[in-house]
Amino acid sequence: MKNIKEREDIIKFALMLNTTNLSPLRSGNLSIRVIENDVEGFLLTPSGIKYETLKPEDIVFLALDEKYDNLKMFNSGLNPSSEWRFHQDVYIKKREAKAIVHAHSPHATAVSTHGKSIPAFHYMVALAGGDDIKCAEYATFGTPDLSINIIKALEKRKGCLMSNHGQITIGGTLKQAFELAQEIENICHQYIIALKLGQPKILSSTEMSKILDKIIHYKKG
Ligand code: 13P
Ligand code: ZN
Repeated sequence: MKNIKEREDIIKFALMLNTTNLSPLRSGNLSIRVIENDVEGFLLTPSGIKYETLKPEDIVFLALDEKYDNLKMFNSGLNPSSEWRFHQDVYIKKREAKAIVHAHSPHATAVSTHGKSIPAFHYMVALAGGDDIKCAEYATFGTPDLSINIIKALEKRKGCLMSNHGQITIGGTLKQAFELAQEIENICHQYIIALKLGQPKILSSTEMSKILDKIIHYKKG
């Protein structure tokens, strides 16, 4: 078996989806960009399997190049996540993405049902890469339309909500993508509380550009 460390990492963070309450049981999915047998692709959680049962050999490899018939060539075991298409399309379109986390975290999912961007009600919104966190338009799970909508919402961003579904983040490592998913969940929780008091004050774009400059140097550990 190739890329054992990456497979173990996927299992470690898949279990953390459950223990941190980012996604219960088997919802959500995770992947890491890898090269396996000289083929560029990514390792992905299998579909519909409870994370607590995962073994390294259950993690599915998929190629990025569509000339490969992924389901026939690399997938003799479990089916890949039903969301393999957006993982593949995000890796193709966003070269900086080395890992992806998709979660049905409760507060992000609740906010996503309104189908709107989260404005700069808190400066930490900048962690996702801009002065708001976009919400990808709704499309059925697993479809090419969902990929298109996500890629649009991820323009100049490392994370976005997915309307009536959840959230997705990318990172240079799986740890970075996972931590951003935790930050987005926390931001959404705060946003829901803030909205209970009425419309929150939104930071100006001048202030947010200052924040975006500073935040690059924030959190190295
Ligand atoms: P999978 O188990 O197929 O990855 O589905 C989970 C999910 O979140 C679908 O959007
Ligand atoms: Zn999902």
